[in-house]
Amino acid sequence: MFNLILFGPPGSGKGTQSEKLIAKYGLKHLSTGDLLRSEIASQTPLGLEAKNFMDKGQLVPDEVVIGMISSALDNNPEANGFLFDGFPRTEAQAEALDKLLKLKKTAIHLLLALDVSEEELVKRLLGRGKTSGRSDDTNEEVIRARIVEYHKKTSPVADYYAKFDKVKHVKGEGTIDEIFEALCEQVEMKKK
Ligand code: AMP
Repeated sequence: MFNLILFGPPGSGKGTQSEKLIAKYGLKHLSTGDLLRSEIASQTPLGLEAKNFMDKGQLVPDEVVIGMISSALDNNPEANGFLFDGFPRTEAQAEALDKLLKLKKTAIHLLLALDVSEEELVKRLLGRGKTSGRSDDTNEEVIRARIVEYHKKTSPVADYYAKFDKVKHVKGEGTIDEIFEALCEQVEMKKK
């Protein structure tokens, strides 16, 4: 089993690169953002609660996303490995994930962090907002709030995994293929 976290601020290209990585390495893609948006689309109580936070650019409470990931792990017993995209986003989520994986006799092997400048992030997210249908991408204030949340609560997650020597940084600017190649290089080194 190979378990990977694709890490980086909103707009760093996690979704795009995740699709390519899962295809190449046969991993199961777990994106908490996608899971939450599907709960909203189905108008479940969880979705309705989450929407209030997402519309403001704030993180959804830890227990909500940890519960979703726990069910997703249980529902995919045959997976060769998981690619976590947009999760964990707080240190509490990282600790919970480690415990859940330990129960399944596995662990996180690598966290790949995509580094992108803030101005480039805002530009990309506003561009994406024109076509993605995501309301949190159309309002610059909400975009900036998401980036503030990232610096305050999410960037410590990389420090948490760095303590276990599991973090590699990759430049998230360039062509999609160049970035993908740099990510694959790190995966191959870790898999050796
Ligand atoms: P994303 O699609 O990853 O950009 O996530 C969109 C929004 O969903 C975020 O701005 C948060 O409000 C919420 N969200 C997604 N993943 C998480 C998570 N792991 N923890 C808390 N909130 C999350």
